[in-house]
Amino acid sequence: MIDCGEGAQLEMQRQRLKFSRLNHIFLTHLHGDHVFGLPGLVSTLGLNHLGGELTIHTFEDGKKILTQIFNYFSRELPFEIKFNVIKPEEAIIFETSAISVRTIPLSHRVQTVGFVFEEKEKLRHINREMVDYFKIPISQMNNIKRGADFITESGDIISNNRLTLPPTPSLSYAHISDTAYMPRIAPKIGAVDLLMHESTYLEEHASDAKDRGHSTAKQAAMIARDSGAKQLLLGHYSSRYKDDNLFLEEAKTIFPNTILNREGLTVSLD
Ligand SMILES: [Zn+2]
Repeated sequence: MIDCGEGAQLEMQRQRLKFSRLNHIFLTHLHGDHVFGLPGLVSTLGLNHLGGELTIHTFEDGKKILTQIFNYFSRELPFEIKFNVIKPEEAIIFETSAISVRTIPLSHRVQTVGFVFEEKEKLRHINREMVDYFKIPISQMNNIKRGADFITESGDIISNNRLTLPPTPSLSYAHISDTAYMPRIAPKIGAVDLLMHESTYLEEHASDAKDRGHSTAKQAAMIARDSGAKQLLLGHYSSRYKDDNLFLEEAKTIFPNTILNREGLTVSLD
């Protein structure tokens, strides 16, 4: 989960997302609309959860504030809450054998980071016919999936691209909220499959956006274009606008492959 605004747990129930599968929460910054859902969510998890642990990735202040709240309101949780203290800098903050998560510092009214979630390169697919033909032993299979060539008993080298097919593409997602327009983050984001970039304002209110540490739809689209992202997801709209489609129209003039965020939206990355 990235950020946890008020109503997050209700929305999880509405979407039938399993609480037991929630193990990590990544907080971009400590503004109420991004964290006020946490105390309620953690209490509910305490009622439903069977054990295990929940890691919250947040700044030192977040750890201090949330620890106090949880200690007071959720004294005897049946699972452990861990904190991974992060800093407003570029860093890899979480890594498994399958994915990594890195931070990009943003420009908002308080310390803020964006997150980039990247699947690691996957194993190559075995070309079954060729593997059978060259009688490659099972013990070699993992090396070959990782890209190794095969050397036969007579010393012939069978190159890997005859034995394997390319791996399933690795997917990536960048979450950039909240921030003023920062052209220099585009190359740091890179060519992700999906970029969520906040668009609180329209370009006609660009000076308000700048003053309050937010972006316009046009600016979000420029970041998408300059990063090489495949698709842009807009969100975090100011309530002063009555029609979300205005954001879509503005962004599409710069970056056509744009979609609007809304409650319950599911986007398939592949
Ligand atoms: Zn904010």
